[in-house]
Amino acid sequence: MQLSSLLQRFNEPETLKMAKLGRELRAKGIDVIDLSLGEPDFDTPEHIKQAAIKAIEDNYSHYTPVAGYLDLREAVCTKFKRDNNLDYKPENIVVSTGAKQSLANTILAVVDKDEEVIIPTPYWVTYSELVKIAGGKVVEIRSKPENGFKISPAELEAAITPKTKMFLFSSPCNPSGAVYSKEELRGLADVFAKHPNIAIISDEIYEYINFVGKNESIAQFDDIKDQVIIVNGLSKGFAMTGWRLGFIAAHPDIAKATEKIQGQFTSGTNAITQRAAITALTADLKPSMDMVEQFTERRKKVLELVKAIPGIKCFEPQGAFYIFPDVSSYYGKSDGETTITNANDLCMYLLNTAHVSSVMGDAFGEPNCVRFSFANSMNNIEKGWARIKEALAKLK
Ligand code: PMP
Repeated sequence: MQLSSLLQRFNEPETLKMAKLGRELRAKGIDVIDLSLGEPDFDTPEHIKQAAIKAIEDNYSHYTPVAGYLDLREAVCTKFKRDNNLDYKPENIVVSTGAKQSLANTILAVVDKDEEVIIPTPYWVTYSELVKIAGGKVVEIRSKPENGFKISPAELEAAITPKTKMFLFSSPCNPSGAVYSKEELRGLADVFAKHPNIAIISDEIYEYINFVGKNESIAQFDDIKDQVIIVNGLSKGFAMTGWRLGFIAAHPDIAKATEKIQGQFTSGTNAITQRAAITALTADLKPSMDMVEQFTERRKKVLELVKAIPGIKCFEPQGAFYIFPDVSSYYGKSDGETTITNANDLCMYLLNTAHVSSVMGDAFGEPNCVRFSFANSMNNIEKGWARIKEALAKLK
């Protein structure tokens, strides 16, 4: 059977590919430490689980409104006011099956064939592939570690052409951990204000996992707010990756357009998850903050361990739960059997010799780096990094 040409246009997520390779080794009885995946290792807080159980008992078993239950969209608005001091109404909100689907809906709703989408590197693997699925063209701005993996207003301005339709970024950033300050966002907003037809996707899924203070949203600037589509969800902040709930806040025209797409793809998100999400978004955030405290301790530990390894240059993440060090000093080295020529070789070497999975930076548009997650137990972090250190020491 000849499959569609669409399949040739995009790649499967490198993060999931690495996790799969790790699982295959584990199935052979090898003790693999997974530092490749992007999900909290914690259980979903009890009060959220109870809300889901109650929803089942209350027979929330029917189709929901495509954009999500009205009281959930109201709860999302309450969250935006509470956490971000942003005013939104339910008509601005569309709830989807994960932030990934929110991104897919939005990109398909906004980007036409051959239109350009500016994405600063390093970026989350899925961004570029969704743009390709929509037929758009990815325009990368290569950010530098010495600039904190952030781009300047001048770099943004230089990348804009008459074909630019969208700008897409995350803060905190997966994979670099960069967090834009209010002043830095204002600088970018000044550029966007001159280009009112450019849509800005602000992916704020790591909002709570921020080690430098309260997260700032680019939607806070009234002169560009209508251009901004905030993407957020429950996966990271509430340890609910498997529940699949994300949402956008956007101008009603964009919200309606994404709802139209969602109406054909999924008819809306799982009803039980939606009911539980109301509790997650309106209850006390202490369980989330307790998780963040643990991420803070792990971040400290992992930075300590990484700094003790020669040849790894590590930018200190300000948010999210990854480190994204430059490992290019190992390129050209060999343990006598395997020669490392790029980040992929290094990841495969670490998987096969240290039994630690990671993700090559090429997948994020940054070929000199590798992403290692610290969303794993302190014990696994210590064990994993001891193995990495030993394996890297063999490369001469
Ligand atoms: N955006 C970023 C930056 C992410 O890292 C992820 C998950 N890895 C998502 C969006 C998607 O999250 P969800 O589970 O809500 O689809």
